[in-house]
Amino acid sequence: MSVTPVTVAAYAAPAAKAPLERTGVPRRPVGEHDVLIEIKYTGICHTDIHQTRDGWGEGIFPMVPGHEIAGVVAEAGPGVTRFAVGDRVGVGCMVDTCRECAYCLSGQEQYCVQGITGTYNALDRNGEPTYGGYSTHIVVDENYVVRIPDGLALDEAAPLLCAGITLYSPLKHWQAGPGKKVAIVGLGGLGHIGVKIAHALGAEVTVLSQSLRKQEDGLRLGADHYHATADPNTFEELAGTFDLIVSTVSAPLGLDRYLGLLKVDGALVNVGVPEEPVSLNLFSVVLGRRTLAGSMIGGIAETQEMLDFCAEHGLGSQIEVIRAEEVNEAYERVLAGDVRYRFVIDAATI
Ligand code: NAP
Ligand code: ZN
Repeated sequence: MSVTPVTVAAYAAPAAKAPLERTGVPRRPVGEHDVLIEIKYTGICHTDIHQTRDGWGEGIFPMVPGHEIAGVVAEAGPGVTRFAVGDRVGVGCMVDTCRECAYCLSGQEQYCVQGITGTYNALDRNGEPTYGGYSTHIVVDENYVVRIPDGLALDEAAPLLCAGITLYSPLKHWQAGPGKKVAIVGLGGLGHIGVKIAHALGAEVTVLSQSLRKQEDGLRLGADHYHATADPNTFEELAGTFDLIVSTVSAPLGLDRYLGLLKVDGALVNVGVPEEPVSLNLFSVVLGRRTLAGSMIGGIAETQEMLDFCAEHGLGSQIEVIRAEEVNEAYERVLAGDVRYRFVIDAATI
């Protein structure tokens, strides 16, 4: 077992808004409860773009993004009990939490009262910066690692580690299932997986996309209905329709219009996190006792449950695999809405 940090190849943004470039970053020695993962694939989440461009502020640079990591265990610390060398594993958005608070103890580590240690753009509990999955290897405590079932290809599984769990968790929490009308707003990386999962849970699924451009895809992914939000008739036609709306939109959303699409007691759950604040007319929630909510990723056990569910139902992400040097171009394409539906970096090209 190594005792000193090793340097591994990675793609990093050297400063806010700077293009990503190839570099080296340190990985800590494999500790008692750590696994060293040889990364095979890493998804590109829109969060990577918000953060490398400092859209949410307080970025730590150089920044190696990537929190949709799929790989294989290359080494296991002596105290590791859940994984062995060769296991197919995944890492999502968090690599540590306090492990003591009510949320950590109830499998909702993502809401740890002390805050999560993000997989990147964070300081770990020793004050060292964390570096994400646009890299060849990563060292992670086994408690923050999940198993990728054999039925899922590693490249199609990678985006499930963030996009998949971010949709699965609220869909389960707000009980999407038979008899429920669920709308997914935005058919991007998160949205397309949301359509698949909501359909597999048995809900009646509607896609609300800016245009009808992706209608065929949406229906093929499992949606029962598809509407363009650029068409003002959509909001009249669908008023009072949904039990649950999950918005994955990365830009500010006209909340009042979407709240109007809910039934009495319906919920609009935002998982998209725009860079600017949004405003609201409170009549939109008072009328109809509606709920406006948010949701962040999911717990570790729930992430495992989601992966097992996806394997059982044959749900992978629809991906376009790219070489690492194409990452800046891929970012531009995500911003232009030109992604169907997740870019995944082949780590062998780093
Ligand atoms: P994405 O692939 O870019 O998808 C976002 C989709 O939103 C686009 O495909 C587009 O769908 C729609 N959209 C974009 N700009 C819009 C605009 N101006 N008006 C209306 N619709 C617009 O991004 P993603 O990776 O799915 O991430 C989406 C958001 O979720 C980001 O803000 C990300 O940071 C956040 N996120 C949150 C969590 C969490 O835990 N809560 C986890 C991961 C990501 P259409 O073309 O179909 O309209
Ligand atoms: Zn993400």
